[in-house]
Amino acid sequence: MGSRSIKKRLGNTGGALRCSIPGCRNPTMRAAGLGLAAFHCRKHIEAKARHGSHWHGTYSAAELKPYLVAATSYVRLRAESDRFIKRALTDVALLLEEAGPTEIATRLKGMSAAKRSRIALARLRVARIKPERFVAIVLAVTALIEEDPGSHRTKEFRTVQIAKALHRLASGTHKVWEIEDHDGRKRRTELHAFPRSSGPVLRLIGKAIEQPCEWVADKHLAAILALKVKRYGPHPALRALNRG
Ligand SMILES: [Zn+2]
Repeated sequence: MGSRSIKKRLGNTGGALRCSIPGCRNPTMRAAGLGLAAFHCRKHIEAKARHGSHWHGTYSAAELKPYLVAATSYVRLRAESDRFIKRALTDVALLLEEAGPTEIATRLKGMSAAKRSRIALARLRVARIKPERFVAIVLAVTALIEEDPGSHRTKEFRTVQIAKALHRLASGTHKVWEIEDHDGRKRRTELHAFPRSSGPVLRLIGKAIEQPCEWVADKHLAAILALKVKRYGPHPALRALNRG
């Protein structure tokens, strides 16, 4: 596309008039005088902040499950024998350790996204979520995005989907747990690891966990995907394609 047609498309508002998502007739935020977004409407900008994609929603726990089960057993079986997996588990454990103390939710107000994401990780540690679970989630999300033909294959979508899966984990089974303080008294603590998890906090959490898992994903993704297909069959969208 030449510079002339770009200029024409941008018009004198310095952006497009209509949202660039196919089928969306909403005005862009800039055209509507709502903000800086020059190519997307408010609805699609908000979707991106929440899900990591303008147009692809967050995967459900059910969609992720077969990938998570396959990745978990794959990682568990090789936790000691595979050096990439071993390293990732050690690095995640260290990351959780270094996340520091937890903080009560009311103190989170006004804190930077970086600090909040560290606290969220510390809470997952206190909730005794094992490094194995983190590594398996990264691998499961990566495998699902890889296999699903309708997925949005961007780094950002993956990062947010990893954080979302962790979020679900934190707000699900481990909502309330007991901890012992220094005097040995037991206290019930509620886990709101990602209170109203904002976009920036989610992304920082996702990135922090992704990073120690890069090598494992690189080396083992194909095998994990093969294991998942063997146990549960191909992604439903691929099955539909094969039938049609
Ligand atoms: Zn739109």
